[in-house]
Amino acid sequence: MKSISGRMAMIGSLICLGAESLIAQAPDTLYPNLCPRTCNLEVHANQYVHPDTVWFWYENGPANIGKGELRILSGDTLGTNPQTAKAIQRISLDNGDSIYDTIGTLVFDDALSHDHWHFEDFVQYRLLTVVNDTAVGDSVIVSPKSGFCLVDFHDSIACGCDGLEGSKAPDRVFTTTGCLVEPPGLFMGISVGWYDLYGFGIEGQAMNIAGVANGVYWLESTVNANGNVRETSTANNVAMIKVNIISTKDSYEANNSGSSPFRVGK
Ligand SMILES: [Zn+2]
Repeated sequence: MKSISGRMAMIGSLICLGAESLIAQAPDTLYPNLCPRTCNLEVHANQYVHPDTVWFWYENGPANIGKGELRILSGDTLGTNPQTAKAIQRISLDNGDSIYDTIGTLVFDDALSHDHWHFEDFVQYRLLTVVNDTAVGDSVIVSPKSGFCLVDFHDSIACGCDGLEGSKAPDRVFTTTGCLVEPPGLFMGISVGWYDLYGFGIEGQAMNIAGVANGVYWLESTVNANGNVRETSTANNVAMIKVNIISTKDSYEANNSGSSPFRVGK
């Protein structure tokens, strides 16, 4: 007959054995990890100038340096005018299973430069005053959050997004084709080791700097702007560059016609 303490020790070892075997069997969750590449955060001089509107354009290249792809699927229809649907993130596990999470809204953007489905609120931009080489001051302009069709634009990372956690996807998986498919078949995303590019000149990639004083500012880009995309880390979701805004507006020419009355540069 075992003593009480002996029985307790045996029960304890069984509990430990059970917990260890559970931990050993738990699959790894292959989250993406989004990061805006600083070398894609390019700025461009205004393209359209009106007396009260000076559009300051920029590009952005969010990369995925995570363990797994960012894959967004369409869920239930939410509305028809405009067409909207639930955005569902599919996250792979290393045992081949997947988990699903609702992360926002998909909307059909019928603007001329898009004309496909977007994942809403993916990036946001701010123009901020400069305190020093690493610190920002007050917000001067906060853009509305922008949405895009997420695709594999190019299989390169770097530019502030080093440290790939997973294996680079050898081939392009996501193209605009997936953003043209009506829900429930829609799919979009960014593969591991690839980045997307939102060029200047497309809707959502500009802010109106009319009235902003000449000077040097921080242009800040935040990816996963609504914070709903599940990632291994959100600590690398912000990129910043300094931009120099110089007005060369001719006060004798009220309509600002002529070439480049504003200049912006890094
Ligand atoms: Zn688009």
